[in-house]
Amino acid sequence: MTGTPLLEVRDLVVHHGQLRALDSISLRVYPGEVYAIIGANGAGKSTLLRTIAGLHRPSFGTILLDGLFLTYLRPERRAIAGVAMVPEGRRLFGSLTVEENLKVGATYARPGPWNIDAVYQLFDWMPARRSQRAAQLSGGEQQMVALGRSLVANPKVLLLDELSLGLAPVVVHRIYAMLPQILETGLTVLLVEQDVSQAQRVATHIHCLLEGRTTLEGRPSDVTAEQIEAAYFGLAGTAGALPPSDATGQPGGGSESTWPG
Ligand code: ATP
Repeated sequence: MTGTPLLEVRDLVVHHGQLRALDSISLRVYPGEVYAIIGANGAGKSTLLRTIAGLHRPSFGTILLDGLFLTYLRPERRAIAGVAMVPEGRRLFGSLTVEENLKVGATYARPGPWNIDAVYQLFDWMPARRSQRAAQLSGGEQQMVALGRSLVANPKVLLLDELSLGLAPVVVHRIYAMLPQILETGLTVLLVEQDVSQAQRVATHIHCLLEGRTTLEGRPSDVTAEQIEAAYFGLAGTAGALPPSDATGQPGGGSESTWPG
């Protein structure tokens, strides 16, 4: 894709102690994209999202949002700049109500189309449960509150870490079905997903990590299930399957793998 990326990561290196969790990762996310990071357990997906959100400090590399250097900004400065994340495991305040959790998300809110009422319109079950404690909700309901909490910040880029984790397929489908409405408001999405089939269904671009390195990237329609499988598990011949790094395309389409989720 041509033009200016909204989010750009250049040569990012992140260590957890002695472990090199990310090794020279670069990516470009263009406005309106759904950019999916896939990979097995421990590939570095969450580390990448958390580093973009400001929760890990990189050893090397640069993170830019809309031309602004985020690399060493504190997480709240990044929120003000337009980064919001739905973390793995939701991380709601269980003793607070649904509405109180949504208000937490608005702490560093930018001006924009999202507010608590807009979230209640998106998730029509939520207004009746606004006074219920988050801990009393089902996993899927909690995930929707976590999503709402990020939306009310009116981010430019929404980081979604494993939305499907621990949820029944029907619930995952219901949550991902909301993405088009969210994108319509001008948001750009960078998501992490272990369920490759799900990632392929929603993504405009997929980027596979293995042990902290990029093993494959491209439009879902440009990569085969065999290439993804090789990149995911680190099988021989993967390197030759790297399409151009700035290619992108339309959601869906392409070969669909049925593993591992
Ligand atoms: P998963 O799907 O299991 O969450 P992932 O692809 O998101 O995997 P990360 O959670 O980013 O992978 O972990 C990458 C590597 O870094 C793993 O080896 C993990 O054990 C290690 N790691 C992650 N966070 C920390 C931490 N806070 N301290 C030490 N090591 C960590």
